[in-house]
Amino acid sequence: MAVYRGKYVLRGLGRISPEMEADLDLAYGACMELKDAFPCEMCGKCCHQPNIVILPEEVDRISAAAGIPLHVFMKENVIRTSDGRMLFKKTGPCVFLREDMRCGVWNDRPEICRDFPYGVSMLMSRVYLAIVDESADVIELTGYMDSSWPCTGAIRSSISEKVDRAREVRRKRTGAV
Ligand code: SF4
Ligand code: SF4
Repeated sequence: MAVYRGKYVLRGLGRISPEMEADLDLAYGACMELKDAFPCEMCGKCCHQPNIVILPEEVDRISAAAGIPLHVFMKENVIRTSDGRMLFKKTGPCVFLREDMRCGVWNDRPEICRDFPYGVSMLMSRVYLAIVDESADVIELTGYMDSSWPCTGAIRSSISEKVDRAREVRRKRTGAV
């Protein structure tokens, strides 16, 4: 199991080699390109998911936004995983999701929430596989996405074009063209 950029757990991948990291960067770039094109509708569905990662540099900011002293925040809201990451303890829904489905720490929410759904582990893994295996169909690989979510339709309608472009960049990098 590999952890990319400190937050994306990529199951099925072992140690990340420099070559793999370059391909993962392409996958990350392809996913993030979609981010600006889609405005989040704040439906709160993603805030019911498990595994909300907090980076060490985000802890002060989030606890301050929540109005919780740091030591209390760490004790009551954060758990550490065996691979060294920190996660919100209360999920499904997240402790900071308000009744109106808005985030209680919106301006200071974790990066993983800002990236959602474009930079989550599952999508990153699937896009990576589609980039490195030219016979793979990214639409098939992302077939797990819940079509009732407002944001995932936007991904599936544009991801093929992003993958094609990333494959082209990879071919040039590896000398395959
Ligand atoms: S599921 Fe998508 S649209 Fe809904 S809050 Fe999350 S990112 Fe926004
Ligand atoms: S921190 Fe905010 S955006 Fe992130 S899961 Fe919790 S309520 Fe949702």
